Formats: sequence, C-alpha cells, structure tokens
Amino acid sequence: MPNELVLRAGRERSVLRRHPWVFSGSVAEVRGSPGAGETVDLVSASGDWLARAAYSPTARIAARLWTWDPEEIVDREFLRRRMERSIQARASLAQESSSNAYREVYAESDYLPGFIVDRYADVRVVQFLTQGAEKWRDVLLDLLASLVPSQGVYERSDSDARTLEGLPSRDGVLAGTVPERVEIVENGMTFLVDVRRGQKTGFYLDQRESRAAIRRLASHRRVLNAFCYTGSFTVAALKGGASEVLSIDSSGDSLTLGRENLVRNGLPEAGAVWTEGNVFQELRAARDRAESFDMILLDPPRFAATASHIPRAARAYKDVNLLGLKLLRPGGLLVTFSCSGGVSPELFEKIVAGAALDAEVEAQIIEWLGQPADHPVRLQFPEGRYLKGLVVRRV
Ligand code: SAH
Repeated sequence: MPNELVLRAGRERSVLRRHPWVFSGSVAEVRGSPGAGETVDLVSASGDWLARAAYSPTARIAARLWTWDPEEIVDREFLRRRMERSIQARASLAQESSSNAYREVYAESDYLPGFIVDRYADVRVVQFLTQGAEKWRDVLLDLLASLVPSQGVYERSDSDARTLEGLPSRDGVLAGTVPERVEIVENGMTFLVDVRRGQKTGFYLDQRESRAAIRRLASHRRVLNAFCYTGSFTVAALKGGASEVLSIDSSGDSLTLGRENLVRNGLPEAGAVWTEGNVFQELRAARDRAESFDMILLDPPRFAATASHIPRAARAYKDVNLLGLKLLRPGGLLVTFSCSGGVSPELFEKIVAGAALDAEVEAQIIEWLGQPADHPVRLQFPEGRYLKGLVVRRV
C-alpha cells in the first residue's frame, strides 16, 4: 500500500495554489505506514492525486510539499537539481555585491523545505529544520560537497523550528575545518563571524541592503545603533562618514566582536562607543540626559515568534520606536526594522505611525528596506517574507 495522506474536503485548495504546507487538521486519513520525514502522496477527498510531500507525524505542519508534478520522484537526483538551481541563482548576487557571504539555499522559498545553507567565505553553515530535511541529511550534505567546495561545513540545527518538529538540537563540525572566526567580505566591508555561537547561523546576511543604505545615509550624522549585535551597522555608518556611533547590545561577546570588526575595517576606535545594556533602559536614560541623534538604528530581535505573541510584540515595537523618535533631531533619520514574520508590513507601518503620534513628532517614510535577493520570497509562499525596514525622516 502506498503511503498517502488523504485531505479533508476543501483542504486541497491551498495545495492547488501551490502553497508548500499542509496542516495536521487538514488530514483526514493516513494510509500505509509512513515514518517521520518519509515521502507521501497527497490525495484529495475525491481521490485526485495532488502532490508529493515529506511527512511529519507529530508536527502541526504535517506535510511539506516537495513537488506538484506526478512524474517527479523525490530522490537524490531531484534534490541535486533543486540545490544546483538554488546555488546557481546566487552567482550574480555574489558578483554585484562583491560579497562572499550569502544564503545559498533558503528552505521552502528555494523549493527545499526545511533546508538552509549559508555561505561564509569558504565555510558553509547548514540547518536541517524539518523531518523531511533530516531524513535526507546525508544525501543533502553529499550533494552540497559535490556542488561547491568548502573548507569546512558546520551544522547549526538549533532553531526553535526543530523543537516544533520533534527533533533535538544538533550543532557541530560536519566536514573539514571551521575556524573560530570566519572572515567575510561584503561591499568592501570585512566582518568576523562566529558560526558556532553567533546569532542565527552567525551573521545577519539578510541585512546586506540595509547596511548599504545606512552607509549611504550616515554621512556627518551622530548615530545610535540599538541592538547592534557585532556592529555591522556601526561599521556601515562609520564607513559612510558618520561623525560618531553609539552602539548598544545586551550581549558582551557580541560587542567584543564589534570592536574587532572596527579594527578590521581600519576605522578609528575613537568614533565608536559600545554600551552593554538593555536598549529600553539605555534609551530612557539617554532621553533623561536630553541627548539627541541624527540617525537612530533599531534592529530588535524577533519579538513575535508566533501569532499569539503579536499583540505583545506590537507594544514592544511601539515602545522602542517611540523612544527612538524622541531622541531624534528634526531632519534626523530613524531606520527601524521588524523581523517578526507575523507582523505584516502594513501593521509595522501602523505601529511606527502610532509611536510618532505618541512621541508628538511629524515624520515621513522615505525608503522601504527588506530582504535581499538571496532571501527570496516565493510568490506562493508569502510566509517566506519576514524582514521589513523603514527609513523615517523626522520633519
Ligand atoms: N543589526 C544587527 C543585528 C541585530 S540582532 C546586525 O547588524 O548584525 C538583535 C540583537 O539584539 C542581538 O544581538 C541581541 O543580543 C540584542 N538584544 C536583544 N534584546 C535586547 C535588549 N533588550 N537590549 C539590548 N540588546 C538586546
């Protein structure tokens, strides 16, 4: 008996629209005995073949779709075609931004659900986030090695997505050697990346275009970089001619790497002040000291991990943007981000508008920022879009 998931009546619609997820509540019957990560055929309530997917028996997303083509078998050759296409699509990006660090495979958005590859110079960091990706782990690693040479491959399968799939965390060197700090180049800037302990897979590759925008806009400005992590925005602002940059993060280790990043870029340490602390408290303290800035960068962590956190996250985004707007001089720029997928671009603009109202300042959006080409958004998978940024000018 073939392994099949029969969907409830009407639930075939999202599959026909080529959305890559089927929720467990949409499954009427499991036929055969598919194990975790194994390939199943999806069948509609009226018996029509719909798609082929990876099965995840305990997760809320019960199936991640591999293909909508009945002729296409999910095997090594299938995965090779997909991975090769995804990696090749980055070739022009690498040239344009003269960067040797970018996402080579972005999971569902690159038609390989649950599988992520980030390139950091000669090192690759991989994540297997779902049962389907986990099942094909050895094949995917073997294909990666055959498609692109790496000095080392490091696994960072430690995101909360794995917990939802019932998979344990797993980190470590999978091949070759991985230096303690990997040096990458992006648009003429150099950054040190700790792929073992850093955030995400080590660096915010998704903020490449924001770094370029900040560099372009920072000239002669006194800048506050809140949630600075390892100072990629600090480097960009100073490279762009900022007169001074104050950087705040709660992680002392990140600030240490931030200071080193300045030195690597030949920037004078005198132009930068690094503060270990809580952004909310530090911004209030700056307000009480009547400080002001010409540019404020707000790139907080993902406040809303799930839909149920959106109301609380909205309040946190509003608070921090309100504080930021108050510290801005007239003519100053607020560059503000949300990386919570559940907070839509429209909602984010509303939150920032509410913050301006409460801060009693007039302001205009002059630019929209977001994910670069190595973090594509598949038209049929809008969930792949999470990063939103606004450049707001205080009037
Ligand atoms: N813009 C950064 C990335 C920011 S990631 C870059 O260019 O790389 C978010 C950062 O916020 C993390 O480094 C985390 O340590 C920090 N953080 C989270 N909550 C914080 C808080 N309440 N106060 C200060 N820093 C915080």
